[in-house]
Amino acid sequence: MNTLHLHLTHLDHNYKIIRDQIHDSTQCIGVIKANAYGGDAIYFAKRLELLGIDKLAVAYTEEGIQLRKQGIKTPIMVFYPQMDSLRTLIAADLEPCLYSKKLLKSFKDHLDKMGIEQYPIHIKYNTGLNRVGFPLDHIQWVLEKTQLSQFKLESVYSHLAASEEERPSKQCSLQISHFEKIRKKHIETSRTLPKFHLLNSSGIFNYPEFQYDIVRCGIAFHGFANKLEWDNLLKPVAVLKSKISQLHQVEEGASVGYDNGWIAPEAVTIAALPIGHADGIGRHFGHSRTSVSIHQQEAPIVGNICMDMLMVNVTGINCKEGDEVTFFGLNKSANSIAESGNTISYELLAGIGPRVKRIVHS
Ligand SMILES: *Cc1c(COP(=O)(O)O)cnc(C)c1O
Repeated sequence: MNTLHLHLTHLDHNYKIIRDQIHDSTQCIGVIKANAYGGDAIYFAKRLELLGIDKLAVAYTEEGIQLRKQGIKTPIMVFYPQMDSLRTLIAADLEPCLYSKKLLKSFKDHLDKMGIEQYPIHIKYNTGLNRVGFPLDHIQWVLEKTQLSQFKLESVYSHLAASEEERPSKQCSLQISHFEKIRKKHIETSRTLPKFHLLNSSGIFNYPEFQYDIVRCGIAFHGFANKLEWDNLLKPVAVLKSKISQLHQVEEGASVGYDNGWIAPEAVTIAALPIGHADGIGRHFGHSRTSVSIHQQEAPIVGNICMDMLMVNVTGINCKEGDEVTFFGLNKSANSIAESGNTISYELLAGIGPRVKRIVHS
């Protein structure tokens, strides 16, 4: 029915491109949160391990536990550990990114109770994204606490709010200067030097001189880096396909879909496809904003997208029930489809629902 084809040889290609952008001594963290951006976290983790990735990262503890259950041995960072998952995080040998006093204290309490010393941790600073992270005026506190014997401070990092923005970017420059200050302080006071990192995918292309010791790469492994010029160096990994469930003729003036979402301006042929907003094709792609490819021809999505289905206008396209339909893929990028629905590749990819069968091509 609906299939998401994952071309892992394209992941190999993207990995090589990213490694070519950074120094040999710079490490790379493979970010595979949200089931590897809607792909398949296990297959991505295994492939990245084969390619020689230095570390993996997920958003939440539960995602890391799943990877461990499947035998992933590479160090796994948890970007956004929550207070209620710290014990299980330790049990699964995951590395927390600590971003607040409360979280750090609670994590230390858990280590104390379990009698653990030198547990690898990462510290996240907020330099301007204003999401999570220690504010700059907590540096002194962080410097003291991270020297405690319970912890082994592996790395110190921050995250840019607009790493893809055309240079010079006022916001990025300000964040970088804050991060430089943080870095200096840590270098001055640390007994053992932690690693430093700041860049995500677009940052790797836009700010190579600030790659520090590690980069964190997510979307670029999937073939996108938030700018056409960089996307062109990469290859899309995921291809989303469906099949025509039913074809029917609709008279001029008849309505198609819920709430009279579309009125046929003339007699048309409509194809119903078995994919809808429960599968990640949100309502914002409806109303002719987005089209799908059928035998290399474009068929616009008409009216409102339903939970399980959507309708496309295939008038003039020579097709039959059961024929293959492509939403996005190698020639028509997920990024351009995302833009047609006023969203971004991250949301479109990560939102592909569990009913869509993943087919891995290795
Ligand atoms: C998701 C995430 C990344 C990866 O970002 P991409 O733009 O997908 O490369 C890097 N760092 C942090 C903290 C993240 O949450």
